[in-house]
Order: sequence, then structure tokens, then C-alpha cells
Amino acid sequence: MKKGKKLYEGKAKIIYASPEKNLVIQHFKDDATAFNNQKKATIDGKGILNNRISEYILSNLNEVGIKNHLIKRINMREQLVKSVEIIPIEFVVRNIATGSLTKRLGIEEGTILDYPLIEYCLKNDDLGDPLVSREHILSFNWMNIMELELINDQCKRINDFLQGMFRGVGIKLVDFKLEFGRSGQDNEIILADEISPDTCRLWDSRTEKKLDKDIFRKDLGNLIEGYQEVAKRLDILHEQSNIRPIKFPKPKAVKIKKK
Ligand code: UDP
Repeated sequence: MKKGKKLYEGKAKIIYASPEKNLVIQHFKDDATAFNNQKKATIDGKGILNNRISEYILSNLNEVGIKNHLIKRINMREQLVKSVEIIPIEFVVRNIATGSLTKRLGIEEGTILDYPLIEYCLKNDDLGDPLVSREHILSFNWMNIMELELINDQCKRINDFLQGMFRGVGIKLVDFKLEFGRSGQDNEIILADEISPDTCRLWDSRTEKKLDKDIFRKDLGNLIEGYQEVAKRLDILHEQSNIRPIKFPKPKAVKIKKK
């Protein structure tokens, strides 16, 4: 598919125009950032893994009735997605306390929450994506109350589905971030962006080994190995050779004697 002009470049993805009306191309980069852009690196193959993992998760969510922007994966790094107007709020869903929740409120690391907790952060890098309340969202018209209620319900449904999916392959879904957008003429709310180890905290159920972006944030080892482990457990890593193409030596043909 022919890519059009670059419409937007974020920290981990680029959005290009597509030949089809109301659709755009989402390209996954290998760039990794943490702590509001203070730590940066390029990690070979990360974009390929996130593309595959996010495609798998979003297509499964679609099958259980959670509408989202994914149309199809086009190639190793790109997806065709619906063009949406992104709502300027990041929705963080938490099952186990860690990260900024423990730092902000002093909740003990690893506390299992009685109910999933939904937090709202304003998407604004200059302000460091500050936590905002429901009242801020409504006061400043970032969403209306119907959109907010609908998204809250979707966050819970997505959490239930993903927790079950990951639990089935021996992974604890600790927390994750979602983004939603308005699509089409009737401004339908749909899930957008990506769901991948870049946007989730995933711990091995038995050992609590980190299999997500915390490997990069906290220098815990090889990030690709963690992401590959997630893909392998979800049984979506059949094309592993595509991540780092294996070069086979050219075979030396045995000479055949002429009669
Ligand atoms: N998260 C994300 N993008 C952000 C902020 C958070 O994907 O810009 C995800 C993060 O990977 C984690 C969850 O949201 O799965 C909660 O992150 P937290 O607020 O604990 O962030 P921290 O500051 O600890 O990275």
C-alpha cells in the first residue's frame, strides 16, 4: 500500500496518510523513551514486535465487540487504521500497585487492588502528562459525560478480557494505558493507539519477571527478549526470522562429472 505524507510523529509511532478515505497508516518505530523523554534509545525489532502484539490484541478485542481503529496489519511495521480525533486523555487501568501510583500515594509496591482503578492523565508532554480528575475533564470539555461513562465501561471490559487472556499464558496484567478517539461523522468513540508491552506492565505469573517497557526504564536486561516472550506465549511468533533476518550461506553446488 502506498504511503501518503507524514501527518504526525510521536515518540514510538508515525501516522501517514493512506490512499483510502478516512484511513491512515500507523507505523511502529524502534524508538523507546521513558521518564517524559529524558531517557531515549533505539531498540532493533521493538516496532515489529509491538505491531504484531497490538494487532493480535486489537483484533481479539474486536471479536468480543470492543470497537477499535484497527483495519488490518499491512506489513512488519505498519497497520491500516481508522483516522480518529484522539481524546487528549490517557486512561490508565491498574490491577496491582506499582510505578507512579506507589510514588505518588505511598501505596506499597505490589498491592493487589480490590477493584481495578482507572486514572486519567492529560496528554501533554510539556506538563508531564499530569493526573486529572473527572471534574477537570468535564469542566474543560475534554470529553462529555456520555463519552466518559462509555470509556469507563470500555476500560473495565478491556481489562477483564486482557487479564483473562494474559493469565491464560502465565502473565499478570499489572496495569496499562489506553487511548480513545472520535471516529466518523457521528463521532463514535473507539479504542485507538496500541496495546503492547510498551503500554502495559506484564509480569511473569510465577517469578514476577518483568516482560514490558520497565526492562528499558529500569535497565533490567534485554527488552526484546521480554517482548518476544510475550509474543511467544500468545503464540504469535511464527515469523520470528522476520525480526532479525537469518542469513543462510549460499550453498555450494556439488559438481557433477560429465559423462
Ligand atoms: N503508560 C504509557 N504511557 C504513558 C504513561 C503510562 O503507556 O505515557 C503506561 C505504563 O506503561 C504503565 C501504565 O501506563 O503500564 C501506568 O504507568 P505509570 O503511571 O505507573 O507510569 P510511570 O511513570 O511509572 O511510567
